[in-house]
Amino acid sequence: MAFYFGTNLKMHGTPAQSVAFVKALEEGLEACGDAHVQPFVLPPFTSLPGLSAHTSRLWFGAQNMHWAAEGAYTGEISPVMLEALGTDLVLLGHAERRRGFGDTDEEIRKKVQSAARRGLRVLLCVGESGAEKARGTGPEVVSAQLETALRGLAEPGADRLLVAYEPVWAIGEGAREAEPREVQVGLQRVRETLRTLCGRDVPVLYGGSVNEKNCAAYASLPETDGLFVGRAAWRPEGFLRVLARALAAHTARAPTPARRAN
Ligand code: PEP
Repeated sequence: MAFYFGTNLKMHGTPAQSVAFVKALEEGLEACGDAHVQPFVLPPFTSLPGLSAHTSRLWFGAQNMHWAAEGAYTGEISPVMLEALGTDLVLLGHAERRRGFGDTDEEIRKKVQSAARRGLRVLLCVGESGAEKARGTGPEVVSAQLETALRGLAEPGADRLLVAYEPVWAIGEGAREAEPREVQVGLQRVRETLRTLCGRDVPVLYGGSVNEKNCAAYASLPETDGLFVGRAAWRPEGFLRVLARALAAHTARAPTPARRAN
């Protein structure tokens, strides 16, 4: 299975800045040369047009989408529009969408289904809040998010699914970095739930304050198939440095049982 490594640029960067970012990454990735890495970048919607002309190793994708193909949905972007831009994947269920824009599990399910129908890869984020962790309900919350989001997903959709475990309490400025054992427990829960729901192994990434110092510990966990990085990867040098460290640790880790790869 590939090692997945990517960043969400959130609301940062003009189209020209995104092109410069992607070009620098492509150059750096050529030097890194490891064919097992699948890197990806999620810039703002406005940077997506034309990005396919600058990417070869990188997947690029959107940070959200609406579930409808078209309609009276002011300010929204549809899967058909993303497909027309050659978008490789779409991020759904990020904590900032759930918290700040009210995306519900049921809406996320409609988006997942819609993306799957159009053949778009989905990177689905799940994770418990700090309050849920404190109450001890984190594992149930994560399983419930997956169960709702993936209800009714047919086999081809599951084939193009990636899931990021992102505990909300570990994301963003001022957050506490998760202990590797906390990450391992969360990833295990996600993987087991996915096996039950999809009947197969789905790549599971970890995200939440990953940086150059802690990435090796997360990447070497037995359940990690990749890392989803925010702030530490918003400059090409940072992206490439974290990737190089994480990849070295991931490659050196003890062998894990064979998984059915996507
Ligand atoms: C995120 O927002 O999904 C994220 C992982 O951000 P950071 O790495 O900056 O915590």
